[in-house]
Amino acid sequence: MQQAVTEIESYIKNIFPQLGLNKSRELVRLLFEINKKTKQTVQDILSKDKAKNFEQTKKYLLNLRYKKPDNLANIYLPKLDLNFTKQAILDGISFNPENIFIEDLSLNSPLAQRVKTKFPDKKITVFTGKFPVLKESYSERKKNLIIYTEKFDFLKPCPCTKNANCCGYNLINLGFGCLYECNYCFLQQYQNFPAIALPSNIQDFLAKVPAASFRRGHFDYVRLGSGEFTDSLLFDDITNYSADIIKFFKGRPELFEFKTKSVNIDNLLKTPAQGNIVVGWSVNPQNIISAAEPLTPSLAERLNAAAKIAKHGYKVAFHFDPVIIHKNWKDNYKNLVIEIAAKIPRGSIVWISIGTLRFNRELKKFIECRFPNNIILDEDFYLSFDGKMRYSDFERQEVYNFLKPLLEKTFPETVIYLCMERQ
Ligand code: SF4
Repeated sequence: MQQAVTEIESYIKNIFPQLGLNKSRELVRLLFEINKKTKQTVQDILSKDKAKNFEQTKKYLLNLRYKKPDNLANIYLPKLDLNFTKQAILDGISFNPENIFIEDLSLNSPLAQRVKTKFPDKKITVFTGKFPVLKESYSERKKNLIIYTEKFDFLKPCPCTKNANCCGYNLINLGFGCLYECNYCFLQQYQNFPAIALPSNIQDFLAKVPAASFRRGHFDYVRLGSGEFTDSLLFDDITNYSADIIKFFKGRPELFEFKTKSVNIDNLLKTPAQGNIVVGWSVNPQNIISAAEPLTPSLAERLNAAAKIAKHGYKVAFHFDPVIIHKNWKDNYKNLVIEIAAKIPRGSIVWISIGTLRFNRELKKFIECRFPNNIILDEDFYLSFDGKMRYSDFERQEVYNFLKPLLEKTFPETVIYLCMERQ
């Protein structure tokens, strides 16, 4: 168990009683991170005889904390600001919201009717205009369900990231909020809203498609998909969006992708398959799923669902995203590739993306508070070309040089591409 921050702070204060606030915070953070990663006590990490002055001590700690501590300008050592009252609640994904809010414009929608039928005993609050103000924390978001009518945000190009090689993806945002608790999820910082919000007017989204001008990047066809602000299929037993989407795209030239970690595929299996419907699973080795993607289906469950989807006649995609560097990562990702190849017919897999873990630097504090025992922050991250925290250029290249040829060789008919990465 990691040592208490107050203990680390007093240890530094004791060694360097005159040290200024900022310098002291840097040493505290370095000691905290080394202690968390190595489980050594701070006394063992920094014995008093090694702590000669600030500069030497910082250098000494940087050498312990980072494999290549030569990129000092890009190291990020924010003030340690832990608030464990914000911790994630990992009590499952059964969804039985205490409070249901329905916008007046959505009251007569099929989605509102389905919600009323599914949760007959719940009190429904009708609202007009703005979303209700909620008192719960982000970790309690499954207590609140909001059904609303989207008015502006229908389709958009995937925002990708500054100076990256764009893959030409297009997004349709079918809702906000997710029940999974992936440690790296950007929603905990970006959205941080204590509710699951689902639009009732999916037909308005689809109506925008024919006149939209889509990008396609280096693909021969337009790709459009959901899953940016919520998992595409997690709520499909309530929303039944998949049925409307599949029907709408019948005969259309675009490929539509449901990006997911879920295995909520019953509605898809009930609907006749089409070749332009893709279900794309984000995948990781099981040890990473267990450690960093709590509440999500296991790898075996995801691959079983993918096999059923492929057998039914839909296309399948995989996203090695985020690739998380850890001990034995090469073996674990290689086994993952082997497992996919063993279970999924190669001709069914249209594309596979690879993206290494990256995040806005502000997210680091959210991860530390919500997942104090996370393993993902134990690796080395640097401020990178787009201002996000990333593994070093060297490590990212190592990942791509390992995985891309392996995937190309294993799945020769599949498009393999990098996500949010520079040229
Ligand atoms: S599945 Fe996606 S949206 Fe849901 S918690 Fe994980 S990263 Fe976030």
